Amino acid sequence: MGTLSSSAVEGTAAEVLVRADTLGAISEEPARLTRRLATPALARAGDLVARWMTEAGLTVRRDAIGNVVGRVGNADVPPLVLGSHLDTVPDAGRYDGALGILLALAVVQRLRARDALPDALEVAAFADEEGARFGVPYLGSSAYAGCFDHDWLELVDAGGVTLRDALCELGGDPESLASVPEPRLAGYLEAHIEQGPVLEREGLPVGVVSAIAGQMRARTTASWPAPLASDRASSPAAATAEASRRRMAGVSSTAGVHCRVDQSSSTPRVVAIRVAA
Ligand SMILES: [Zn+2]
Repeated sequence: MGTLSSSAVEGTAAEVLVRADTLGAISEEPARLTRRLATPALARAGDLVARWMTEAGLTVRRDAIGNVVGRVGNADVPPLVLGSHLDTVPDAGRYDGALGILLALAVVQRLRARDALPDALEVAAFADEEGARFGVPYLGSSAYAGCFDHDWLELVDAGGVTLRDALCELGGDPESLASVPEPRLAGYLEAHIEQGPVLEREGLPVGVVSAIAGQMRARTTASWPAPLASDRASSPAAATAEASRRRMAGVSSTAGVHCRVDQSSSTPRVVAIRVAA
């Protein structure tokens, strides 16, 4: 294998960025990028990614939740899986999720050109990571990984539509999702845009994740007599954060946890928890 010329690298990077622009224009809303699970916009984005996968020589399959998976290589060999999520939060950035899918496609194109594809490789575009529509994240990758909970079909979105009905509307068979076997994988690798300032501040082009944060979500209804000036008030939201802290402490040896609760709006908020080992 030789090294790539700089012009080849720049050509690949330019194609990834153009494709990110194209995907970023596929949205539920005209003025901003919003692409949630089981929406026509996500289906259109899936169609486009499926086309790019086919052009890259991958055999494409789609499941009832909307995951788009392209595969190449020996069917009996556990694949290396590259990919990310195709759904977005409301008013998302165009590289969040999409970049991991597009870089994976670029890797396939490059490896194929050098006749260096592994025995089995999959590119996965997951239909849900954000949980922006039904409040439960990772519905797409759960279906892929064979751990989809059948009860999730009863989840209801803000408009009163169940996940089951939303998937049926798009032509899928949601009942099939809970019976997917756990796949045998050689490994999984995801490139993701950094959602913070560290790499930019350090002048680094890329970082490798050495630890991963767990995420818990809770919905609380709160009322209190006066505006809260403190970010550590004894509100129900703070109580929820405290309960989360205790659960975290129960499963890990965290030594210090600090919670800050943003109560400035009714939209879902990250209860930012700083964990010091
Ligand atoms: Zn993301």
